[in-house]
Amino acid sequence: MAIVRVALPVAAHQLFDYWLPAGLAPDPGSVLVVRLGRRRLHGVAVEVVESSEVAPERLMPVDEVLSDIPPLPTDLRELANFVSTYYQEPIGLCLAQMLPPLAQGGGSRAPLARAYRLTPAGQASLVDQGNERGTALASAISMLQAAEGAAADELRKLGAGVGKWRRDGWVEPVMKVVLSGTHTPAPALNPDQRTALDAAIAEPLAFRPSLLQGITGSGKTEVYLAAAARVIDAGRQALLLVPEINLTPQLEQRIAAALPALRVGALHSRLGALERRRRWLAAARGEIQLLIGTRLAVFAPLSRLGLIVVDEEHDASFKQQDGVRYHARDVAIFRAQLRGVPIILGSATPSLESYAQAKRGRYLWLKLPRRATAHSGLPTVRLVPSRDRSNIEGIAPALQQAIAARLAKHEQALLFINRRGFAPSLLCAACGWKAMCPRCSARLVVHRDDARLRCHHCGHAAALPASCPDCGNQDLLPLGFGTQRLERALAELFPGARVLRVDRDSTRRRESFVAMRDAIAAGEVDILVGTQMLAKGHDFPRMTLVGVLGADNALYSAEFRATERLFALLEQVAGRAGRGEMVGEVLVQTDFPDHPLYKALIGHDYDRYAEALLAERRGLGLPPFAYLALLAAEAKTRGPMMSFLDAAGERGRAVIAANACRCQLYPPVPAGLARRAGMERGQVLVQSNDRRSLQTFLPLWRAELEQLGERRVRWSIDVDPLSFA
Ligand code: ADP
Ligand code: ZN
Ligand code: ZN
Repeated sequence: MAIVRVALPVAAHQLFDYWLPAGLAPDPGSVLVVRLGRRRLHGVAVEVVESSEVAPERLMPVDEVLSDIPPLPTDLRELANFVSTYYQEPIGLCLAQMLPPLAQGGGSRAPLARAYRLTPAGQASLVDQGNERGTALASAISMLQAAEGAAADELRKLGAGVGKWRRDGWVEPVMKVVLSGTHTPAPALNPDQRTALDAAIAEPLAFRPSLLQGITGSGKTEVYLAAAARVIDAGRQALLLVPEINLTPQLEQRIAAALPALRVGALHSRLGALERRRRWLAAARGEIQLLIGTRLAVFAPLSRLGLIVVDEEHDASFKQQDGVRYHARDVAIFRAQLRGVPIILGSATPSLESYAQAKRGRYLWLKLPRRATAHSGLPTVRLVPSRDRSNIEGIAPALQQAIAARLAKHEQALLFINRRGFAPSLLCAACGWKAMCPRCSARLVVHRDDARLRCHHCGHAAALPASCPDCGNQDLLPLGFGTQRLERALAELFPGARVLRVDRDSTRRRESFVAMRDAIAAGEVDILVGTQMLAKGHDFPRMTLVGVLGADNALYSAEFRATERLFALLEQVAGRAGRGEMVGEVLVQTDFPDHPLYKALIGHDYDRYAEALLAERRGLGLPPFAYLALLAAEAKTRGPMMSFLDAAGERGRAVIAANACRCQLYPPVPAGLARRAGMERGQVLVQSNDRRSLQTFLPLWRAELEQLGERRVRWSIDVDPLSFA
């Protein structure tokens, strides 16, 4: 009897055996439908064998081998093995990350979505008609002109005769972004860029990691695109990972304008399932030449992969924080190694991990120290006191004046505060009561938009109380500042100005971010207030002032990466100022003007700050000089959680002793957020100076933890955690 060993998307570190009915012949990597208990699941065939340890009468048959999804290629299966081993995640869950969205319940026959765009002939014939005729046709046409093309289903809903148009040659299927705008050829690279490009892909068929350290606006993106164009010219595919979904449309447009012949595809979680699947298949077939995507795209099938680029490689959003916990940058490096292709990591403020690798000579260190369009240089940074009696709603007088000056010149200003909502807490002035989340050890945030208190950890929401629940006092004080409060203050300070707030609350709907960006670009906004959503990559030529509030919060944070991240964030927001012809200025409100971070920021001198941070990390035995893993546990009550962690510590020490692992276990402690969504949380930190030793220790320890069989406790191991506070 032929048995197939299947990896299933369940939290078990094992494969599952099924027998193969006659006629079914999966290859390794084939996607199968099988039953597990009462569930029908998609799994990946790992191997076909002759016998099983499971008794034959207990084996279930494979229900189906999907024929419309090609088997996962070898390199992806190897990548899954790496992710599974390195991150201590079940292989079935890792492989599941690599599959396209599949129809539920095994049926995979849903038609593939098709998208169409106008041909030049269609443009000529249809656009005129659209102007003359009813609105349905007009909207179908405008969809056909959109960057992504229009999905066939959507067109049919509008009553458009897609089939006929296709036969008439008015529309054609799209695999790439189309732009109705004009062709703006890529600029000729300057000498720095050319040097970087040539070095990065000097050996196009070899693993060659480069760190491209270039200040904001130095033209890193042009280098990525030139590198991609070269490998694509040679018949290969390029993968470009970006930290933020919202950046992909902008990038796609830029690429479409510069390289109109390129077949570009974007892959991210906001696409519908059918669309994601369509693109997955196109990437697997090699039809997409340049794939742009967020972290999940690191797992996309690319049969002719020739280059990987990780833009803003320092960005924390490359780390998946739940489910399969992986770091897309690190997985990308492994993948590049596996496939023997160059990889470019780009950033103005590289992660200390990458920085250290470049210093050691393991990565090529390529630098772009100047802005590409050298009208203005980097903006000047000025520090202003953050506590001042003349502050209005937290806004310092110097900042108020600077905004007024920009308004007078019809330039734009951006106020950055990394906190959404109105105020981070609500306090009773009479008795000291604070609004706390009933399910978390955290304060509730005041939201004025909808008059609610919200927990930013668990989503709990309650009406804003009219009086103190403890003493009845009606004088409740919102403490501190968030985006909504600044928005209101600015509207009052500058009544004639158009103020726009951009944060997760104001951009909840899919289209709103794009609409906002267009409004800003069109000059319909004078003052922008926003969170880090605004920090990344956007190019607003009339933006000449950036004000930063509340940055000090991160200076003395318990998270060891907090200052590294703050520098990156501030440098990035600063980069929003003066991108066009006009000189930019950055005002940072701080009570600690002598902090080394601000000293380095004034000089835009990341190297100086990175060296200081590296010295600190070396002294403390923290990454990149040590390797960490974090066992995190949570339970409804504290008792079982802590005794689980105690037992985990004991077993861990035994494993270390028995295997001579050079690892150190720290005592169990409550997590930084000790309670979340009604669960008590605790952790044990593992540290080692030797990655191999840690990698030896972790699976042995994990097996011991599984044996503990503590059902009341949910636990997970986070390898290379971003923080442990
Ligand atoms: P980064 O990705 O480093 O922030 P970009 O690649 O976005 O920088 O470049 C910033 C701006 O400079 C863009 O408007 C880009 O078109 C322009 N630019 C980049 N390289 C050149 C060049 N060699 N010549 C002229 N303009 C350039
Ligand atoms: Zn009170
Ligand atoms: Zn909560």
